[in-house]
Amino acid sequence: MPAAMVAGPAEGARPEDQRVGDPLVDTHGRVHRDLRISLTDRCSLRCTYCMPEQGNEWLAKTSILTLDEIERVARVAAADGITTFRLTGGEPLLRTDIVEIVRRLAAITGPDGRPVDIAMTTNGIRLRELLPGLVDAGLNRLNISIDTLRPDRFRDLTRRDRLDDVRDGIAAAAASTLRPLKLNAVAMRDVNDDELVDLVEFAVAHDAQMRFIEQMPLDAGHTWDRARMVTQDEILQKLAARWTLTPVPGRGGAPAARWTLDGGPHTVGVIASVTAPFCGDCDRLRLTADGQLRNCLFSTTEYDLLPALRGGDERTASQIDGMLRSCVRGKLPGHAINDPSFLQPARGMNAIGG
Ligand code: SAM
Ligand code: SF4
Repeated sequence: MPAAMVAGPAEGARPEDQRVGDPLVDTHGRVHRDLRISLTDRCSLRCTYCMPEQGNEWLAKTSILTLDEIERVARVAAADGITTFRLTGGEPLLRTDIVEIVRRLAAITGPDGRPVDIAMTTNGIRLRELLPGLVDAGLNRLNISIDTLRPDRFRDLTRRDRLDDVRDGIAAAAASTLRPLKLNAVAMRDVNDDELVDLVEFAVAHDAQMRFIEQMPLDAGHTWDRARMVTQDEILQKLAARWTLTPVPGRGGAPAARWTLDGGPHTVGVIASVTAPFCGDCDRLRLTADGQLRNCLFSTTEYDLLPALRGGDERTASQIDGMLRSCVRGKLPGHAINDPSFLQPARGMNAIGG
């Protein structure tokens, strides 16, 4: 049995008999440990592969989950065996209550009494001023996105002139105690594919792990083009001209495959969702900012938690639990990006939560 799979509830137990405290095991034996919580669809940048420049259809403000609602979902998820909450968006640091969200979630413990792990994916803007409060509140790990080190490219790619703010956030994270620190870049042809070595050197200088992401069909403009995407093989080829790359074993459910640089200790990761999908070991679920559970980035089905959270019913915990289980039960063995029948989800990446 692969590491990401465990036995489900007692043999013969019907799905409808499962309740709060049972592990979240799907019909393919994958046990779910990671919940990505999107806190907002708003963002301080407009990355071309994620959001349109203008005319984005924002989620209704009234539908955005409050701090209390997020905590209620997280408590049930932790009781069901979720051990990591990754806060994302949109840009999570735009939430004015971000420090309090981290504090509330970090206080949650699992059935074994151990505290959950709190991670965040951010573009780094405003990180310097917020970091002390986030660390004090219990944040454990950070992933910061940076696709280019060149100001002109950054402006074109993100449609905002904020590279210095991002670099400032990364410098603050490097000076903090949070480790491992990871930097993310989407590799793009004729945009930043001549900067891959520079980005890895930048990460190493900040005691961080660089991770390159294959571009996925999740942009709001639906402009993704398979023929133009930079593949894992190409990324490794470019890096191999500079370093000897040795695969790191024991990936488990992690999205990034890793290689040591010249024998280590530094490593580089590649998230090859398109050319080397890792769905067989996926242990992730997603909660959108407007209370929709999703079992895959690419799913077109959502499980609505708002009625349970806002219905004024005493049985909220069991309703949330039931919805988590329905979502897990509906999970397909893998995404279908490589299938001719693939349909891009209606939401852009900023509204799903990366
Ligand atoms: N705003 C934060 C950030 O940029 O890190 C968090 C949200 S963002 C949606 C999370 C991650 O998704 C980022 O690393 C971003 O580069 C990645 N991402 C967004 N759209 C993508 C796409 N179409 N393909 C691959 N990665 C994408
Ligand atoms: Fe914002 Fe992150 Fe999307 Fe860029 S990738 S537009 S920073 S949510």
